[in-house]
Amino acid sequence: MSNILEETVLGTHHWTDKLFTLKVTRNPGFRFESGQFAMIGLEVNGKPLMRAYSMVNASYEDHLEFLSIKVPNGPLTSRLQHVRPGDKILVNRKTTGTLIADNLLPGKRLYLLSTGTGLAPFLSILKDPVIYERFDRIVLVHGCRHVADLVYEDFIRQELPQNEFFGDFVQEKLTYYPTVTREAFTNQGRITSLIQTGKLFEDLGVPALDRAEDRVMICGGPEMMTELSDYLSGIGFEQGSNAGPGHFVIEKAFAEK
Ligand SMILES: Cc1cc2nc3c(=O)[nH]c(=O)nc-3n(C[C@H](O)[C@H](O)[C@H](O)COP(=O)(O)OP(=O)(O)OC[C@H]3O[C@@H](n4cnc5c(N)ncnc54)[C@H](O)[C@@H]3O)c2cc1C
Repeated sequence: MSNILEETVLGTHHWTDKLFTLKVTRNPGFRFESGQFAMIGLEVNGKPLMRAYSMVNASYEDHLEFLSIKVPNGPLTSRLQHVRPGDKILVNRKTTGTLIADNLLPGKRLYLLSTGTGLAPFLSILKDPVIYERFDRIVLVHGCRHVADLVYEDFIRQELPQNEFFGDFVQEKLTYYPTVTREAFTNQGRITSLIQTGKLFEDLGVPALDRAEDRVMICGGPEMMTELSDYLSGIGFEQGSNAGPGHFVIEKAFAEK
């Protein structure tokens, strides 16, 4: 049996000229844990052209949702951005990834630190009621260049807190902290600086990172990931993986070429 499933596009939403959301059908045999990714793509010249994508949808939803960059001349995304309802895309049923709750030791506060499309796996995690059982407080930080790149803001601020099953927990436990680097906004600056200067913790009214209480998941560009994981290792946090839980876990949202 081939691992590559053919799914049908249900809809797209173009947030900006660089970002779009893609919703497709979900084969009942497609299973994943909140925070994981799969290879998705298109058939090009008779061959599958596949790239890694984090699922945005919850593991219990009956469609699949992806947040995608549009890379100019990118082999996949220069094509994928043009799909329309009814078109077919390919989805590999094998899912994997390190950004899963079981890869973290128990803790009090959970920081979900993302840049750009690195937000995607955290949206799935925030739709999973389990995360609200495991932590007293959850802080979602999304760093972007421009305000328009703060996609899913309405979903996070309006829809999640109204969820009929776990909305009360969202209201009680989740803090959303969007930050922008290239224009004026309520919160400004790179995530690394906000953490290293302590500004993030001052704004949140919480103590600085402490491995006794805090757990961190990081997903974003390679530079931010390296800086943050070096910083966390420097203050005694140990990295978790599928081989064993730790104080923090990371996943690159894309690879540098
Ligand atoms: C574990 C993992 C999960 C990923 N999840 C997502 C996701 O949920 N959404 C998503 O859009 N992409 C994601 N990516 C990146 C994705 O796999 C592709 O790289 C992207 O779709 C571009 O494909 P492409 O063929 O058009 O260009 P590629 O040839 O793959 O990329 C060309 C260049 O574009 C830049 N680039 C690629 N992806 C991004 C990005 N997301 N943000 C900023 N710059 C980028 C990089 O510099 C890269 O070298 C993920 C990558 C990995 C490794």
